[in-house]
Amino acid sequence: MVIVFDLDDTLFPESAFAHSALAAVGRMAAQAYGWADYGAKLAELHAAGRRTELFQVAAQELGHGMMSPTQLAGLLACYREHRPAALPWYPDALEAVRSLHSRFPLELISDGYLPTQRNKAAALGLEQWIPRPTFTEELGRQDWKPSPRAFELLMARHPGERFAYVADNPAKDFIAPRALGWVSVRIRRVDGVYAAEPDAPAGSPDIVRPDMTDLMACLRI
Ligand SMILES: [Mg+2]
Repeated sequence: MVIVFDLDDTLFPESAFAHSALAAVGRMAAQAYGWADYGAKLAELHAAGRRTELFQVAAQELGHGMMSPTQLAGLLACYREHRPAALPWYPDALEAVRSLHSRFPLELISDGYLPTQRNKAAALGLEQWIPRPTFTEELGRQDWKPSPRAFELLMARHPGERFAYVADNPAKDFIAPRALGWVSVRIRRVDGVYAAEPDAPAGSPDIVRPDMTDLMACLRI
């Protein structure tokens, strides 16, 4: 069986990247515009759940007015190209990957901006376990999940195999693997970003677990 993982909030908490990248944006704004408290404001708004227009709202709340498109683009690029030195795995995910990788082919399918996803993978040391991660952005924005394309590419890479997809987002992660006959496993962590989300009608997973501790038993491998 080929075991395919999602990246964000499946193998590591994506908020760890966000914290690190927002701090980098704060340092950039302090240096470029003299906004000493911008990083702290970003962290505060992010912690309160703010996601849309985060950079613009933080500037406005600090009395800096609306940012120009150029200013905003500069801060966004700083965020998306941020390279954290290290990121923390979920301990159970690292344990699962360690124990599985010598026995099964391991793969990864992840959506997101390409430099960001590559930098996350590098900070996790992912390639020692999963040497050829599939970032859907390489295929084009139209092939972000729930597109089946990345899943089909892995089926072509491992002909005749069975597949499992281990992921966390009920809205988009399980639609393609279900349609293609894969086993799908939703990791629904207690504090996960989608923990409260119901399963999507077209893509309800075969298995739901709170973490990866008993992943092999669930997959009967
Ligand atoms: Mg995810």
